[in-house]
Amino acid sequence: MFENKDNSNTSISNLGEFGLIDHLTKNFKIKQKSTVKGIGDDAAVISADSEKEIVVTTDLLLEGVHFDLSYVPLKHLGYKAVIVNLSDVYAMNAEPTQITVSIAVSNRFPVEALEELYAGITAAAKIYNVDVVGGDTTSSTTGLIISITAIGTVNKGEAIYRSGAKENDLLVVTGDLGAAYMGLQVLEREKEVYKVNPNSQPDLEPYSYLVERQLKPEARKDISGLLKELDVKPTSMIDISDGLSSEIIHICKNSKAGCNLFEDKIPLDPQVISTCEEFNLDSTTIALSGGEDYELLFTIKTEDYPKIKANPHLTVIGHMTDQREGIHLISRGGTKIPLIARGWNALKEDE
Ligand code: ADP
Ligand code: MG
Repeated sequence: MFENKDNSNTSISNLGEFGLIDHLTKNFKIKQKSTVKGIGDDAAVISADSEKEIVVTTDLLLEGVHFDLSYVPLKHLGYKAVIVNLSDVYAMNAEPTQITVSIAVSNRFPVEALEELYAGITAAAKIYNVDVVGGDTTSSTTGLIISITAIGTVNKGEAIYRSGAKENDLLVVTGDLGAAYMGLQVLEREKEVYKVNPNSQPDLEPYSYLVERQLKPEARKDISGLLKELDVKPTSMIDISDGLSSEIIHICKNSKAGCNLFEDKIPLDPQVISTCEEFNLDSTTIALSGGEDYELLFTIKTEDYPKIKANPHLTVIGHMTDQREGIHLISRGGTKIPLIARGWNALKEDE
């Protein structure tokens, strides 16, 4: 979403590739000690610390596949593109330190639109204390493409993998689930209404939390510190980008374990519950398969339960079992339903 407010937009061709890069990147300030050289040479230089390990993760976002510019403001898109990557860094128990940003744009985007995108990237980099140390800029004949790579560090031996969960470990999730997906449903509906009546004024207030979770998600930068404070070291961890069920399956497969997930324990915001009713959707299915929640899912030893049980950020939703027991959702009624990566059909059939 980009409005050409007073028809004063600047064509990218006015600046040229190098002028554009310079224009978009001139305000990035270096904050991290480890950034020796940021933007402006053939490669960034990051100092290596012998006490630490480095994590690297990357994501690719395509217009029309991962975002729809008819309702996503470019500033939010830039912000979210960074968050998606930082969430993966936190899921390794690491601290993000640098990112690179690569974009492919068509001439349909004026310079001002890219300024908006970079305003979002700049805001996220500031809040999460990461340096933007490079990237690439090229033209696209189709839509907008954004690829961000994040670099982070973790003390040697403290990275948390998907593979460490053991039988009887408790399965814990941060925050609540399903809101980002319901936010998308609300925005899609408003888009359809707008097509029919461009003068309609959408009232998004009852869905404010959902829309915020979809358009301006945050990554759980607080959890690593919180767990240290509580003296809990997860045995495995993953971030919830594709929906709870596929992330549970990842942990189970990588850890060679099974799992029982309890439907009545899944944390849902009241807006998710009421909006699911309005859209005639099953809230459990949405939490299982909706995705884009960017919460963390991890396992802890049973003896650590007293340390986390009163914490408002953390909910125990299940426990790990022997691999031969399989991966199941225990419904409110007590029925055992096999969990599949897209929980949708399995649930529908059993009801
Ligand atoms: P090269 O010819 O080595 O690819 P470029 O001219 O593409 O160099 O880039 C010059 C500098 O600007 C490099 O430091 C590069 O990492 C950085 N850069 C290029 N595009 C972007 C971008 N979209 N966002 C941030 N940094 C960028
Ligand atoms: Mg280049």
